[in-house]
Amino acid sequence: MQTKKKYQVKDKVPKLMSTYRNFPMVPRVVFGNGCFSQLGEILLPKRRHSDAPFIYLIDDVFEGKELTERVPLIFNDKIIFISAQEEPKTQQVDALVSKIKSDFQELPSGIVGIGGGTVLDLAKAVSILLTNEGSSDTYQGWDLVNKASVYHVGIPTISGTGAEVSRTAVLLGPDKKLGINSDYTTFDQVMLDPELTQGVALDQWFYTGMDCFIHCIESLNGTYLNAFSQSYGEKALELCKEVYLGQLSECESREKLMMASWHGGMSIAYSQVGVAHALSYGLSYLLGVKHGIGNCLVFQHLEEFYPEGVELFNKMKAAHNIELPHGICKNLSDSDFDAMITVALSLEPLWENAVGKEWKKTITSEKLKNIYKKI
Ligand code: NAD
Ligand code: ZN
Repeated sequence: MQTKKKYQVKDKVPKLMSTYRNFPMVPRVVFGNGCFSQLGEILLPKRRHSDAPFIYLIDDVFEGKELTERVPLIFNDKIIFISAQEEPKTQQVDALVSKIKSDFQELPSGIVGIGGGTVLDLAKAVSILLTNEGSSDTYQGWDLVNKASVYHVGIPTISGTGAEVSRTAVLLGPDKKLGINSDYTTFDQVMLDPELTQGVALDQWFYTGMDCFIHCIESLNGTYLNAFSQSYGEKALELCKEVYLGQLSECESREKLMMASWHGGMSIAYSQVGVAHALSYGLSYLLGVKHGIGNCLVFQHLEEFYPEGVELFNKMKAAHNIELPHGICKNLSDSDFDAMITVALSLEPLWENAVGKEWKKTITSEKLKNIYKKI
């Protein structure tokens, strides 16, 4: 009897399909002041059994604070406090994963990240590495994750990065700063409770909020722009202007910035960031400068690329009396500049989005060095 040839599913998938990215969105989101109180009820159906705990990664700024007392701990659930003084690292993810694996015989029912972009990215990465073998640096890149992650929940306590909605977990690795970009990175559940952002200091509120503003400017002025990204980017930009230049009540301002962050993240999901992010990654890699302030330090010098954006940025900065530090790159050596420039130039999609396919003709090492020297 003749055996019928078996086809692999991938043989049947038309090549054209890969032209447009089919990216995941957060499937469940709850929004509203005080909604954090619903966390226990939301997690309950996700508990596999009493020996499969929920692990809460919480920004240590909340240690001993009321928020921590409200965490709905039951059975052997555990809280791990995380310092957000430095950006998340691959070794930190690996250490957390081995600790969770050695402390519990069962895989957790879920990971809950409560904090800013730092803690949210750690929570995403830990949930991936609990089910995927090896060290986290091997997954930095695009679509390198093979197995579904553990159920994970993101609860932002500061607004701007869009980490709550994105499909990436940005990590500093041994030789690069790069995200784990995958369909398994995106949170399964997000809780947007604007009240949780109440304690953020003014300068941090500005830096992280400006991350969102810069996402909008880079997306809306990029060559990758399309109607999908534009619709989210324009809304986020409008909200940023209301928050930083309008006359809102504190409550309205918190709510609107939280939604700006979400829309800004959605905008870049289907386009890309640009010049400020490329240069800021270099600063962060060499000097450990954090993302929000790093973006601001670079963006103020980008009139050539984003003239209207820089003008607006300066207005917002003045409106809130924000003084950015000076002389960050003053004492750097030529090899330090080269290291930052190498990181910045390696982010090719960001340059292609910002300047176009021919970007290599105008974006030279010398040009980037001149910008870094101003910082
Ligand atoms: P963060 O998480 O680093 O926190 C900044 C500071 O604010 C910390 O000191 C923290 O303790 C404090 N803080 C947070 N919430 C607070 C609150 N309610 N009250 C008082 N203090 C509070 O800041 P961020 O700007 O949100 O995150 C930066 C990180 O996000 C970087 O590591 C960056 O790489 C990452 N990022 C990720 C994405 C993504 O899509 N995954 C996008 C942009 C940035
Ligand atoms: Zn950013």
